[in-house]
Amino acid sequence: MPSEHISTSARSAPYEQNDKRYLWHPFTQQQLWEAEPQLVIERAEGCYLIDVDGRRYLDGISSLWANIHGHGRPEINQAIKQQLERVAHTTMLGLTHPTAIELGKRLVKLAPGKLSRVFYSDTGATAVEIALKMAFQYWQQADPPQPNKRAFLSLRNAYHGDTVGAMSVGGIDVYRRAYNHLFFPTIPLEYTACTCGSQPACNACRMPCLDIIERTVAQHADELAAIVLEPLFQGAAGIQTYPAGYTRAVWEIARRHGLLFIVDEVATGFGRTGKMFACEHEGIEPDIMALAKGLSGGYLPLAATLATEEIYQAFLGSISEGRTFYHGHTYTGNPLACAAALANLDLFEQEQTLEKLQPRIEQLRQGLEHLRHLPMVAEIRQCGLVAGIELARDGEREQPFPPERRVGARVTLEARKRGVILRPLSDVVVLMPPLIISEDELAYLLMVVEDALSIVAVEEAMHEEE
Ligand code: PMP
Repeated sequence: MPSEHISTSARSAPYEQNDKRYLWHPFTQQQLWEAEPQLVIERAEGCYLIDVDGRRYLDGISSLWANIHGHGRPEINQAIKQQLERVAHTTMLGLTHPTAIELGKRLVKLAPGKLSRVFYSDTGATAVEIALKMAFQYWQQADPPQPNKRAFLSLRNAYHGDTVGAMSVGGIDVYRRAYNHLFFPTIPLEYTACTCGSQPACNACRMPCLDIIERTVAQHADELAAIVLEPLFQGAAGIQTYPAGYTRAVWEIARRHGLLFIVDEVATGFGRTGKMFACEHEGIEPDIMALAKGLSGGYLPLAATLATEEIYQAFLGSISEGRTFYHGHTYTGNPLACAAALANLDLFEQEQTLEKLQPRIEQLRQGLEHLRHLPMVAEIRQCGLVAGIELARDGEREQPFPPERRVGARVTLEARKRGVILRPLSDVVVLMPPLIISEDELAYLLMVVEDALSIVAVEEAMHEEE
C-alpha cells in the first residue's frame, strides 16, 4: 500500500535528530542529508522494510543488492541463534571452527571451474583486495617465479569496492577523483564493454571493444598479474550489461596471455543473474572469485575469496621461505555470518529458489518493455533479476540531465511516497529486489516505478518550458 511518508513524524523525529547530530553516512552528501527528512527503519519481514511508524516499504534494492530470501526468515534467524548459543566469534588465525569448514566445503562444491580453496573476509571490497594480493604474490612465488608480473588492468567504469586497493582497479571517475594520488598504478583500459550492450544487434557485432583489450593485454602481458572483471555487467557503473559472450572473451584473452582471471561476483553471485554464479552463463573458469553481499543471504557481513589449487600451492613452504599469505581480519570467517550463509544455501536447495526465479525474471523483462517508451527513459538494461533504467532529457543518452536536477534521486523519492525503496546510481534507477519477490510484489514495484517516472517526467517537461 502507498505510504505517502516523506515528512518527519513524532516517532521518527528523535532518531532523525540524533542521526543528523552523530552519524556520517556512506556515499552521502551530508549537507543534503541533514536538510531532508529521513526514513528510520525499525523492522523488516519478507520483501518489506518497516519504519518506526509502522509503514511498510517494498525493498526494491535488496538492502544494497544483498538480500536473497527476504528479511526475517526464521530459518536464517534460527541458524544465527543456534550458532550464538555455541560461539559468536572466534579467530581463524591459529584456530578453526565447524561452521566455516562446512561452508567452505559447500562453496567449493558450488563454485565454477577449478576453485578449490576458500579464504574468508567480511565485505566485497576486502574479498577483492585479497584477490589482488593473492594474484600479486602468486606470481612472485610461482614455479618458475615471474616477479615482473605485478600490474593489474583497470577497466573504465569498473567498481570493486572502496578500499584503496579495490579502488585502484576501479574506474568510476567521480568516486576516484578525490583520492587519485593514493592508488597504486595500473594499466588503464580506456574502453571496456560495448556501450551498445543492451541492443540485440550487439550480439552479432564483432565487439571491437575486445580488440582493444586484446591489444593492451598483449602489449603488457609480461608485467600483468591479472584482469579483474565484474561478469555480465558493470553494476555501479549503472548496470552496464555486456554483449553475450563478452565476459567469456575477456577470460579467453586472459588465458591466452598467461594472466590470472579474477571474477568479481560480489554483486552477481547467489542467483542475481538467474544462475548461482554469473560465470555459469558463459562457462567461465576463473582463477580467483570474490564473493560477498548475498553470501550470508544479506544478513551479516561475510565475504570469501576462492582460489584454485594451483594458486594455493604457490603459498606452501617453510616459514623461512616467506610464502605465507599475510592477510587476515579480526572477524574473518565469523561463525554467526557463516551460519547465516549455510542457512542461505540450504534455502536455495529447499525452496528451489533458482527455478522459481525464472518466471520473475521473465515478468521483469515484460514489465521493463512497457517502461521503455516512457518519456525520459533513454535505455533499459536487464540481467536476471537486475535492471538499470537510464534517464536522460528527451530519452536520449547523449543528453544527460544536469546533475543538480537530481532526477534519479527525485524518482526514488516519488517511489518512496508510494511505499517502494530504491537507490539510484546518478540518473540510472536500479531495480534489484530480493530473489523471492512474489508476482504481485514485482507487479507493484513496476507500477510504482512507472508512476514515479511519469511524475518526474512531467516536472522536468515543465521545468524545460520555464
Ligand atoms: N564489487 C562489486 C561488483 C560490487 O558491486 C560491490 C558493492 N556494490 C563491491 C565489490 C564492494 O562490496 P562491499 O560494499 O561489500 O565492500
